[in-house]
Amino acid sequence: MDLIYLDNNATTKVDEAVFEEMMPYFCAIYGNPSSLHPIGQRAKTGVDAARKKVADFIGASPSEIVFTSCGSESDSTAIVSALMSLPERHHVITTSVEHLAVLDCCRDFAHKGYRVTEIGVDGDGNFDEDAYAAALDDDTALVSVMWANNETGVVFPVEEIARAAKRHGALVHVDAVQVAGKIPIDMRGSSIDTLALSGHKFHAPKGIGALYIREGTPFHKLFLGGHQERNRRAGTENTASIIGFGKACELAAAFLEHEATYVKDLRDRLQEGLCRAVPGAAVLGCNAERTPNTLCIAFPYAQEDGILQELSEMGICASSGSACNSRTLDASHVLTAMGVPSSLLNGAIRFSLSRYSTRQEIDRLIEVMPRIINDLESMSIWDKEQ
Ligand code: PLP
Repeated sequence: MDLIYLDNNATTKVDEAVFEEMMPYFCAIYGNPSSLHPIGQRAKTGVDAARKKVADFIGASPSEIVFTSCGSESDSTAIVSALMSLPERHHVITTSVEHLAVLDCCRDFAHKGYRVTEIGVDGDGNFDEDAYAAALDDDTALVSVMWANNETGVVFPVEEIARAAKRHGALVHVDAVQVAGKIPIDMRGSSIDTLALSGHKFHAPKGIGALYIREGTPFHKLFLGGHQERNRRAGTENTASIIGFGKACELAAAFLEHEATYVKDLRDRLQEGLCRAVPGAAVLGCNAERTPNTLCIAFPYAQEDGILQELSEMGICASSGSACNSRTLDASHVLTAMGVPSSLLNGAIRFSLSRYSTRQEIDRLIEVMPRIINDLESMSIWDKEQ
């Protein structure tokens, strides 16, 4: 049975070109980039080249890139650093639909006495600009928002959000984990101070991320000890993964147009096909701007675990929301914040495509879905008359 992988917002396959570029750094160029001998210096040359590729990918300068272990570490570092940098301010603004990497970190500061405002969203997942304007004040130390949502793909107007924050002297962190490789990122002329990236979301390996820190932004490091990363993150560099991350950025830049056309066309084909094939199916975030690869679709009176199980048995991998949520029975905090009714909330599935997705895969999914939903509907606990 061929695997149909439509869970690319959870993680992606490592591109073979990325893998090949990494290989020499395990058994040949294994030196520590901080060592002065030739094998260490060769590793350093590789790390420097990768840093340049990451910087070019987001319109930054190499000195503004700090390699981390993942998107979560980049988010935590940026949030903690911002609040330590502006100790006289005690207000944090974030949104109610953030990934837990941001939400839990901000809520932790609420326990420490900070005022934390979670801006809500409308029924399509759009950022509530009025609530944001009302929440911003001169006590706001940090605005931390995601660029695109991992569950729905809904895109937030991060530049406008950042410009408004600057008028109040706040620092701005953007979680760009779900936009890298999907829509262009350009930090030149941006009002964003820090930006989180994660390699495994765009065909680099797991365990490598980056934090962009705009030149001149006050910074407090989270990992103490060594002076790596220009004294901004202690710890010997994950050299091979950094090399892979650089290559993945180079490829992502080359594939951006393909993402906006080929991948988006496939996602739209899937969306239209499922809406036609399954009466009552509702696309969540359908009136909002979304990343080109993501479709969050709810099937009324069906249970998501049943749908996912049947799909798995057919070799089709999808998700019920974020990878973290899919192991719990809690309703998605994102869909709850959007006010999705409970009859739909329980049957919401996220399909997330990549440049490896094919039309045949999409057509196979459209073909099998009506039967799966019919079977599950007949067993549903929901009273359709209600
Ligand atoms: N932010 C968003 C929006 C995400 O989707 C994820 C992962 O799903 C993260 C942060 C965390 O990234 P990582 O898995 O690299 O820690």
